[in-house]
Amino acid sequence: AKYVYDFTEGNKDLKDLLGGKGANLAEMTRLGLPVPPGFTITTDACRAYLLTGSEPATLHDEVSAHLDALERRMGRRLGRGDDPLLVSVRSGAKFSMPGMMDTVLNIGLSDESVSALAAQAGDERFAWDSYRRLIQMFGRTVLGIQGDRFEERIDAARAAAGVATDVELTADQLKDLVRDFKEIVVAATGRAFPQDPREQMDLAIRAVFASWNGERAGLYRRQERIPHDLGTAVSVCAMVFGNLGPDSGTGVAFTRDPASGHQGVYGDYLPNAQGEDVVAGIRNTVPLAELERLDPASYAELLRIMEVLENHYLDLCDIEFTIERGRLWMLQTRVGKRTAAAAFRIAVQLLDQGLIDEREALRRVSGGQLAQLMFPRFTTESAPEPIATGIAASPGAAVGAAVFDSATAVARAAAGERVILVRRETNPDDLDGMIAAQGILTSRGGKTSHAAVVARGMGKTCVCGAEELTVDVAARRLTTADGTVVTEGDVISIDGSVGRVYAGEVAVVPSSVVEYFEGTAAPDSDDLVSAVHRLMTLADRERHLGVRANADTAEDAARARRFGAEGVGLCRTEHMFLGERRELVERLILAESEGERSAALDALLPLQRGDFTELFEAMDGLPVTVRLLDPPLHEFLPDLTELSVRVALDHDERDTHLLTAVRRLHEQNPMLGLRGVRLGLVVPGLFTMQVRAIAEAAARRRAAGGNPRPEIMIPLVGTVQELEIVRDEAEAVIAEVERAHDVSLSIPLGTMIELPRAALTAGQIAESADFFSFGTNDLTQTVWGFSRDDVEASFFTAYLEKGIFGVSPFETIDADGVGSLVRAAVTAGRAARPDLKLGVCGEHGGDPESVHFFHEVGLDYVSCSPFRIPVARLEAGRAAT
Ligand code: PEP
Ligand code: MG
Repeated sequence: AKYVYDFTEGNKDLKDLLGGKGANLAEMTRLGLPVPPGFTITTDACRAYLLTGSEPATLHDEVSAHLDALERRMGRRLGRGDDPLLVSVRSGAKFSMPGMMDTVLNIGLSDESVSALAAQAGDERFAWDSYRRLIQMFGRTVLGIQGDRFEERIDAARAAAGVATDVELTADQLKDLVRDFKEIVVAATGRAFPQDPREQMDLAIRAVFASWNGERAGLYRRQERIPHDLGTAVSVCAMVFGNLGPDSGTGVAFTRDPASGHQGVYGDYLPNAQGEDVVAGIRNTVPLAELERLDPASYAELLRIMEVLENHYLDLCDIEFTIERGRLWMLQTRVGKRTAAAAFRIAVQLLDQGLIDEREALRRVSGGQLAQLMFPRFTTESAPEPIATGIAASPGAAVGAAVFDSATAVARAAAGERVILVRRETNPDDLDGMIAAQGILTSRGGKTSHAAVVARGMGKTCVCGAEELTVDVAARRLTTADGTVVTEGDVISIDGSVGRVYAGEVAVVPSSVVEYFEGTAAPDSDDLVSAVHRLMTLADRERHLGVRANADTAEDAARARRFGAEGVGLCRTEHMFLGERRELVERLILAESEGERSAALDALLPLQRGDFTELFEAMDGLPVTVRLLDPPLHEFLPDLTELSVRVALDHDERDTHLLTAVRRLHEQNPMLGLRGVRLGLVVPGLFTMQVRAIAEAAARRRAAGGNPRPEIMIPLVGTVQELEIVRDEAEAVIAEVERAHDVSLSIPLGTMIELPRAALTAGQIAESADFFSFGTNDLTQTVWGFSRDDVEASFFTAYLEKGIFGVSPFETIDADGVGSLVRAAVTAGRAARPDLKLGVCGEHGGDPESVHFFHEVGLDYVSCSPFRIPVARLEAGRAAT
């Protein structure tokens, strides 16, 4: 196997093998852009290392061959001679994991080569600064020494020298720091800092491999649903230096604003610094526009390259670059992460620029992003004066108690509190706190700081670089410019769309995107809404899947309709049995004679009829699938324990009677017990009452000039015999209503497919069903044998942590297991009855990934909750492109 690729050999499509960084370095090399030479070690080599604990046998020689070639090309040798070559060793997985894995710069420096570098660069200070960076980074990432130990020494050196920043330390002070750093290494590892350049390189490569399995990398992958078995590639690249003086520097740039999506030049620049300084948010950067003044030639070159990259990648690119004494070098590019709003705006811009076509524009946005745009935002009218402003790093409105460290954020969030994580700056160790928090606030760092990049990736609200704030983590408080103090636990509100921080809780209003869906904001009311409108229009044009709503009330149905629902795919009738009607249900259950039972049913009938009439009116002209009663009857009765206590205390006769019924109906596994069609078969008159209510409601609506289109759905069917019995009874009732009202109602009768047996015998069931609706909640429950009400709270966390699945199968359809039953039932059902209508009404109907699956297996529609309707429409459109 080939484990090493020169930058001249790869290309952007080899991300699996070369990681995003390696593949894009190769692509930029091919484009003739100024990339320092180097090579990439493949993810295959990393996976082999992680599996066996050692590198593949041939890797050493392959690396030697590529290193020789690199040395020949550069005319310099790694860490040797008058002009020593130095390299960076960088991690880079298929999916970007900002700051989660390791990177080591300045490999090749040693006690010997540091002097050669100093002489060559004519800059002693620079050489010693680079050496101390190497020992620090190597010590931390390769040797596993606590970063603080080095930071403390730097702080001490700065204090001793009476200077505020590292840049002001002199060569001699840096020499002392190197000496101290080497002592730290010996003290911590019992070994001297390795002087052999090749040994440094090999150890660094191994450390990068191993960092794939680091704790924070694992956590990040779980959060971002990145598979755990991909491994990382390692790029070895000739060093160029941004820390060679004021005509050098390093920066990050975006071809468009990743927060808003607006066009323009965005980024941060840090003169006289190495790359880590920018991303780590350690020093405050200057806006990229400043570079135009500092170094107009490099700035012009950078703009030219940004245009080349955009036209090549046809998307927003983010870039890391270094300027070495006036010469610009590209160190990385990738299609950049962006906020949801930016994604919608950019897709439409690129479409209008003619760079991408309509279908591609649809692929550039996602249902998850649309869902984010539907979150509420702060009201501008009622907002108080902000206590600070910072950079609008990741949009959204977040309210919570201020906490000052990651562990507290996790603990308080676990206790159900909403928190805002406040830090001076974040680093990868803050990841679990960031996940737990509603939002993140930092006092330092720019749009490309760790906090900003990671928050944007997670879709989490973030304000960074709020420099007026003094964050005192040890004292657990922050102080504003005018002396206001916020201590741990005080509620603050942060607005990541504009970068404002408020004391206390600020009220929120619906997003403009929701107002657009509601019809209260015009499609051209702002540029974001208009981008959403255009992409929704495209999605509706492309999609094959219909989108219906799970709605039980006329109000929900009406909203769903405004959001674009093309009918109701599931009306759960159980809510119609709750509240004040519970007593009628009790009477039904306790009935001891035929007369008592029909009296109870007669009382329920008009109430149900009223519910359905309203629902059919709200969805006039569109199908409404009404499901007959599903949950076990005990759900409508008092709790067994409570009732027993009550009876023991007051011996009330009615309660005693009730208790007998509760005991009789008590089940160990109610989910697998007397519910759904089983209930209909053993409680005489229950289902026929519901069918009558539906048919009579339809007849009334028809008489009132409406166009009701009810469909009746039987739940929890396992065998066609169950369906046949209910169906015969239902047909008789419908016929009776039709005669009585002199109308023809043609009400389709169908079933849910939510038990494995139903899916396995779908061919037989289809003979008696006009439609199927897959109940993937129960189907998931019964295929996996997972109690849907219990497992997510009990052992799913452990399963997710162990990587048994990347996401709960109740959230995203398990395509291999549950999905294969769905697929088989679709095939068998359609074979038996070609005109069989097929839908899904489990939670998965509104889940983006699952929508793609349902498109692919050829369902007619998905049904989901009203707020997910736009998401399902968009994803159905995307699935069809
Ligand atoms: C299902 O099981 O997927 C379903 C939609 O029914 P319920 O969630 O009401 O059991
Ligand atoms: Mg169900």
